Amino acid sequence: YRAKEGKDTYQFFSSDMDEHLFKRTILEGELRKALRQDQLQLFYQPKVDLRTGRITGVEALLRWFHPEFGMVPVGDFIPIAEETGLITQIGDWVLKTACAQNKKWQQQGFPPMRVAVNLSAKQFQQVDLVKTIVDVLERTKLDPQYLELEITETVAMNKADSVVDKLNNLKALGIQLAIDDFGTGYSSLSYLKKFPIDTLKIDRSFIRDISKDTDNEAIITTIITMAHHLKLNVIAEGVEENEHLCFLKQHDCDQIQGFLFSKPLSVADFEKAFQGLQEVAVGYQKDTES
Ligand code: C2E
Ligand code: MG
Ligand code: MG
Ligand code: MG
Repeated sequence: YRAKEGKDTYQFFSSDMDEHLFKRTILEGELRKALRQDQLQLFYQPKVDLRTGRITGVEALLRWFHPEFGMVPVGDFIPIAEETGLITQIGDWVLKTACAQNKKWQQQGFPPMRVAVNLSAKQFQQVDLVKTIVDVLERTKLDPQYLELEITETVAMNKADSVVDKLNNLKALGIQLAIDDFGTGYSSLSYLKKFPIDTLKIDRSFIRDISKDTDNEAIITTIITMAHHLKLNVIAEGVEENEHLCFLKQHDCDQIQGFLFSKPLSVADFEKAFQGLQEVAVGYQKDTES
């Protein structure tokens, strides 16, 4: 990172400087510009259905390429966007861009895929969230079944009553709903009955330790079993190793996402890689005969 100092000299921030101050003051201003100057981009990480061996969806992941700082990690600027309220504009841009891109892929002849968009707490609390989403779907002409929203347990647990209403309204539109980072919140499980959820995404922290930590393996298999009893889909995120994939296949996980299959890719890279990735995905297919 570099920050402006004096008139036109730049100085690199060293690690012992006040990082938070830097982030608040510099990044906030820069983030406003980023929206206007087209510095934001969405990358897309494919998800594979282990039963069909097909790419069934992609998760849209935000990237900020700053002309001087380079790529700013999403974990550094989303919290600031939330604090400053900029998340509303950024979130609207993400939704619109992801839906428009997915529609475009369908028109280009790619097999229909679902695009997943992450919603942060502030975005979810917006009173006009449902209206915003309806507008985006109408403008982009994307069929709602091809949009999925990922929310975390903590988001879901906020102000439980209005949350249920909002989720029901979204569900009624035909949108898919997923709980992201499942297993890392502090919430009770009772919301799983109240909320019209379609999918649980098992947090990466559990997947990472497959074959090293039997406790985590027990947690994973329990989540999968519970999800299936509740008639929910279950996807594992952060699948990096072949061992992870084998374990998840063996324990009947529905879908996987992670670096083993593909990193998040730019639109151009995703389009170039698609055929090859689809062939790899076929190899992941579960042997349902035996
Ligand atoms: P998330 O929604 O849980 O997204 C998954 C994160 O894990 C992504 O990080 C992805 O690049 C990373 N990942 C995927 N596969 C692997 C793997 O095999 N190994 C490892 N080590 N990492 C993997 P990313 O893109 O840095 O995003 C981090 C978080 O930032 C996301 O977590 C999400 O909570 C948030 N985020 C990203 N894009 C958006 C957005 O458009 N809006 C909002 N509100 N939040 C976003
Ligand atoms: Mg996510
Ligand atoms: Mg996640
Ligand atoms: Mg995560």
